Amino acid sequence: MQPLSTLLMPRRKTRRIYVGDVAIGDGAPVSVQSMTTTKTADVDGTLAQIYALAAAGADIVRCTCNEQAAAEGLARIIPRSPVPIVADIHFHYEMALAALEAGVQGLRLNPGNLRKESEIKLVASEAKDRGVPIRIGVNAGSLHPDLYKKYGGVTPEALVESAKMELAYFEDVGFSDVKISVKASSVALMIAAYRLASETFDHPLHLGVTEAGPPPAGLLKGSAGIGTLLAEGIGDTIRYSLTADPVEEARAGRQLLESLGLRERKGLDLIACPSCGRAQVDVIAVAKEAQQALEDRNLPIQVAVMGCVVNGPGEARSADLGIAAGKQKGHLFIRGKIVRVVAESEMVEALVAEAERLVAEGVEARLAAADSTAEAEAEADRRALLDGGGADPNASEVRVGRIRARSGGGGAGGAGSPEKA
Ligand code: SF4
Repeated sequence: MQPLSTLLMPRRKTRRIYVGDVAIGDGAPVSVQSMTTTKTADVDGTLAQIYALAAAGADIVRCTCNEQAAAEGLARIIPRSPVPIVADIHFHYEMALAALEAGVQGLRLNPGNLRKESEIKLVASEAKDRGVPIRIGVNAGSLHPDLYKKYGGVTPEALVESAKMELAYFEDVGFSDVKISVKASSVALMIAAYRLASETFDHPLHLGVTEAGPPPAGLLKGSAGIGTLLAEGIGDTIRYSLTADPVEEARAGRQLLESLGLRERKGLDLIACPSCGRAQVDVIAVAKEAQQALEDRNLPIQVAVMGCVVNGPGEARSADLGIAAGKQKGHLFIRGKIVRVVAESEMVEALVAEAERLVAEGVEARLAAADSTAEAEAEADRRALLDGGGADPNASEVRVGRIRARSGGGGAGGAGSPEKA
């Protein structure tokens, strides 16, 4: 099958930088970032969060370096971290220098916060000497007042010009190991700003919708902004900014990239039909139960929960594994082929057991081990449901009967029908 990512716009060519051992830009896999919420001086607490973020899919983790104690914490955290660490410098260039001394693999500077040319150049020179890349992290909320005035507000042009000015300082000291972000909390504004940035710079771009808020709205905003740009081939590394446990950010970033085919599946992808009047089971409850049972097992497969055997196995034939309900049974299928029929009460248990075997033994082996009568039994259940019309959980037929009774039982030719008018 054609790789999913080839269905998107081709990825934009950029320079390549490295944050530790993670390549960014020039065709490298799009990486996921997140940020710790602990005090960086709390070494064990911060490391625990970094490990949780890495397990959830973060390739790079950013920590605040806002004070001396944080810089000292970084010096102790970095050697024990499973992923490269980027330090976020807020207002003090001294903290950037201290973070470099601590051994960080990347810095983030906000041009709106650190404004003195001499200080910016000093940090860039020091980063250059140590081979550490810097993200020019422009943020709509902290745009330099001069640019705000010049453009009459926060515009895509103003955000890109802010990055351009910072880049010029860096280039003055011969430093170009840079990635750029032009984040805004408005999805439309950030999309326009990144499009302009991708035309303006050949540096890798770090995508994000800033201050997106708590899920689910924050997730939707992040996905709309980051997903749109990635589909256009723009973006080399991403971060969801959620008001939530940062593990959710890392997980969302990873899932977005997997859903676009930009990263290989690392964990479970549970899909489920939206359910409809034909459903033979409470799809929402079964999908939730399956998610809970499968989630912690870290199985890199797509699993489908489908409400009926009439359409389920066909609709989800691209899933590695699925189960479809019907006639108080669960019809287990692998890549659309029915392999076993179980009692409805055993659906989730059977699904989990098959998922584990599928990962351990592979698709071919599990198809070869299929129950030889399963296909015929599923077909008989499917036929019976089609012939019998299936369940009527929404009482549609009762309503139709009432409508017909009102119109005198004439169906399409009843009173008020267009034909009679
Ligand atoms: S699989 Fe069946 S129940 Fe689910 S949406 Fe399709 S037709 Fe409806």
